[in-house]
Amino acid sequence: MINIYSYDELRKSKHRLSLLLFLLLNIALSIFYVLNTLNKSASATLPSVLVAIFCGIALIVCNFKLKSYAHELNFFAVCIGMLWAWHINIRFHSIVAVNSDFLLYSLMMIFFISAISLTDNFIAFCLHSLPSALTVVVLDDFAHILTLLFTIALPLLSFSLHNLMQKRSEAFTSDLVKRLSDEREKFSDLSMIDPLTGLYNRRGLYNRLDNLPGDQKFRHYILLLDIDHFKAYNDNYGHTMGDSALVAVAVAIRDAVRSRDIVVRYGGEEFLVLLIDVDESSAIASAEAVRQAVLDLKIPHKFNDKVSTNVTLSAGIAVMSDNDIDASLRAADTALYLAKNHGRNSIEIAHYKADRQIILSAKS
Ligand code: GH3
Ligand code: MG
Ligand code: MG
Repeated sequence: MINIYSYDELRKSKHRLSLLLFLLLNIALSIFYVLNTLNKSASATLPSVLVAIFCGIALIVCNFKLKSYAHELNFFAVCIGMLWAWHINIRFHSIVAVNSDFLLYSLMMIFFISAISLTDNFIAFCLHSLPSALTVVVLDDFAHILTLLFTIALPLLSFSLHNLMQKRSEAFTSDLVKRLSDEREKFSDLSMIDPLTGLYNRRGLYNRLDNLPGDQKFRHYILLLDIDHFKAYNDNYGHTMGDSALVAVAVAIRDAVRSRDIVVRYGGEEFLVLLIDVDESSAIASAEAVRQAVLDLKIPHKFNDKVSTNVTLSAGIAVMSDNDIDASLRAADTALYLAKNHGRNSIEIAHYKADRQIILSAKS
């Protein structure tokens, strides 16, 4: 799943890889110098051997997951850069016929490593290259200052431009990834909300259920609520008025229960309330409060020529045992069915026998 965290992980692994490459290239250069001196039966310089040892240790340390590769890279770059400067100094003085080609060639090697492995880190690039560059300028007695300055300035300039472009493109990508992940979160939230009432839909309910504390000491109750004779309401007043009534009922239900309770538009004119951590008497009191709140809306509902009444709802109550929503829904539905048969605008609670068979008892 792509998000801002996985993008950061990707960047971190890139820094890690460039650090590994940097260390390996330095080891390779160090081995090259040692082998070179063996052929010519000259002794290897202490700093070039130290570079190999230092990089070897650094590679081992890297395997123990460093926290910040950028900081470690700077530290390694300055240490190795100083060692190479020291190496150039020793080798320069051991060469009988002093020649500036050696200096230029040494400098190119250092820049080569920096340019390949430190393209993401301008500071590390400078820390690694500058000690050798300054040493070369001084050792050359400023004789080829223009050539050397050109050798130093050219990669630094192109590197800076490259780095600037890279930073901009990374900032752009990071911003894009962040916006994408925000948008996805927004759409995911929206997909859990019923657009008409603003309550959770079924997907929202199941999402909240996944995050419910599974602790046995919490006891939750389900209220399954169904508006009475709502088909007749639509037939009499039209679908638009029906929608307005649904919204008003949804607000009344939400206001009648606690904010921690989960209120869901479960179907067309059916609602579900998950009462969090309540006992049976509180669950019955909540259902009664909801029923009364909807009645108190006094939405006129004239469902035949003789009888004129208000919009009401009926409720089925069931405990949620073992966080088993399906079993509780079946029980609440059975209770609701009975509430409807008892003349509507009423509530019923389902109880379980020891064998988990549902038994019902009337509440109003
Ligand atoms: P009962 O008391 O037995 O529940 O009767 P009822 O008429 O409410 O039940 P029935 O299931 O026969 O009808 C439900 C009606 O709810 C049918 C449909 O027109 C209406 N309804 C469902 N969803 C919506 C909606 O989003 N907007 C509107 N306006 N009406 C809806
Ligand atoms: Mg219904
Ligand atoms: Mg109904």
